[in-house]
Amino acid sequence: MKNNRRGFLKKASLLGLGASGMSYVQGCGPKKQEVIETPLSKEWTSDPEWLKVKYGAWSGPGVPVGPGPMDGVLVKDYAPKSTIIADETFIPKAKFSAIDAHVHHYTEIEAGGNPKQVIKDWVKTMDEVGIEKSVVLTVATGKEFDKMVDYYLTDYADRFQLFCGIEMEGIDKPDYPERAVKELERCYKLGARGVGEVTDKGFGVSRDQSLKPEERMHIDDDRLDPFWAKCGELNIPVNVHQSDHPSAWTPPDVYQERTPIFQQFNKYGTDGLTYDQLVTYLPKLLVKHPETTFIACHLANLGNDLKRLGAMLDDFDNFYLDISARDYEIGRQPRASAKFITKYSDRILFGTDMGLDKEMYQAWWRLLESGDEHMPGRVWWRYYGLELPDDVLKKLYRTNAEKVLNWS
Ligand SMILES: [Zn+2]
Repeated sequence: MKNNRRGFLKKASLLGLGASGMSYVQGCGPKKQEVIETPLSKEWTSDPEWLKVKYGAWSGPGVPVGPGPMDGVLVKDYAPKSTIIADETFIPKAKFSAIDAHVHHYTEIEAGGNPKQVIKDWVKTMDEVGIEKSVVLTVATGKEFDKMVDYYLTDYADRFQLFCGIEMEGIDKPDYPERAVKELERCYKLGARGVGEVTDKGFGVSRDQSLKPEERMHIDDDRLDPFWAKCGELNIPVNVHQSDHPSAWTPPDVYQERTPIFQQFNKYGTDGLTYDQLVTYLPKLLVKHPETTFIACHLANLGNDLKRLGAMLDDFDNFYLDISARDYEIGRQPRASAKFITKYSDRILFGTDMGLDKEMYQAWWRLLESGDEHMPGRVWWRYYGLELPDDVLKKLYRTNAEKVLNWS
């Protein structure tokens, strides 16, 4: 990880670029998001642009569009039943014992009033599906973190690993950087072996939308420098959720890429940073802290542009990814994803971030291990299996996690 900054600057200058000229840092610098209003109802079937977006270059449905009962079907309810007769491979257990690098203390764990029992059942599910360890990104500090230690490390220190959060009280006070480091050291002593998930979806890491834009603390903020440096010193990785899926910044109208279940995450028209601005912050952080390991979850929210993401991996060797909650990104482009995961097989960690259900894990095994086609999935993109080779699967499932999480 040494010489990372030097290597990066050399590369940038060889290309004749400043930091803002990197291919994955397009459109950076503050600018107001362009407002394009699309009417919600209109005679779309004769609009050439709509036809092109819907049908591609050919731009036509080929049959006249007549009125009928489906006119009343709502987008959020649409769930087409496929007639395809294709292989359905059931994979009950991961091919190699896996480490799930991205879980949370999900709300359902406390919902029934007996969290320890739910965690016990979870361990049973983990056994059944082939998960050896789960990394709980608690986002917690103080008493909340102490509670997590009691829940997970008292009985299951060999099955769970805890990441703590970042102290967020009084980020505007002069003693904040010091306090944040102190709390990190305290959590480390109690068993924290990483930090996360650190989320910035445009409103800063405290995620406080009531703060004015200039008061928000983004991941590259100087106030966090001692904290990131301490993570490097303790040799613990940081799981970062930079930005969000790019479609979250496009209007929730007829051209919205993801289904309405994701509309709660839509940030179009808010006063937070835009997608293009947000994806410039992680490279800045990686340059600033070459001695600290950062794992960008959800394929760094660049899974829609694997070339751009690959360029970023090429530039920073303290930069890792987890694939959690991006089943839809991987599954809709199986050939490109398989190539990408193979090429960067030393840099990508398996993670779920999708709850406790046995079927959820098994859906991941089917996606990563089988060659099944046209699988139903979230969003409305069908998934296609990646058929990853054994050596790649092994690294994805466990070797990389063992290396980055310092357990071996
Ligand atoms: Zn998460």
